Amino acid sequence: MKKLVFATHNSHKTEEVSAVLRGKVELVNLSSLGFHEDIPETSDTLEGNALQKARYVYERFHLDCFADDTGLEVEALNGGPGVYTARFAGPGCDFDSNVAKLLRVLEGVSDRHARFRTVVALILDGREYLFEGVIDGEITTERRGDKGFGYDPVFRPEGYDLTFAQMGADAKNRISHRAIAVRKLTDFLTKEK
Ligand code: IMP
Repeated sequence: MKKLVFATHNSHKTEEVSAVLRGKVELVNLSSLGFHEDIPETSDTLEGNALQKARYVYERFHLDCFADDTGLEVEALNGGPGVYTARFAGPGCDFDSNVAKLLRVLEGVSDRHARFRTVVALILDGREYLFEGVIDGEITTERRGDKGFGYDPVFRPEGYDLTFAQMGADAKNRISHRAIAVRKLTDFLTKEK
């Protein structure tokens, strides 16, 4: 089975991605390589950040690897917070303060359309490839559910009554932005063989 390093320290992402890749790709964790440093992400695009993270790890280990970068794009915020999704509530923020800020800035706003967009950057034999996954939905007016991570309690995908945080891992992994991008990656690897 093809081995790929996943350039992330986020255990939620690792769990989601390994569920999608199970049986198709063997995931190598950064911790199993003894790598615990922060990986810089200083670009102003998701594509730039995903590539930056994958290159950073590739340059250290020269092993095939991939990284993802995700943004929440809210229509009423002109596509923001987008690439700044992780830092929406400012320095030292966490999932909880980011969600609280989002609910606050959307208070009384009726257009609550939003989408999650993930870009996966793959480096394979030194060549770079990008894959994108998008899911449309809306921001709820209050938190619902306790599964998942990040903005999951306030994101309700289009066509569903539940938020990502109410759905649980299996249902989220069938439809999510990250799962779509990661499936494109596995389709590509299958064709490469
Ligand atoms: P990252 O830059 O790819 O780590 O993602 C930026 C931020 O987006 C994270 O800190 C999370 O707050 C949020 N995020 C990414 N993926 C998801 C998801 O699947 N559900 C909810 N929030 C997410």
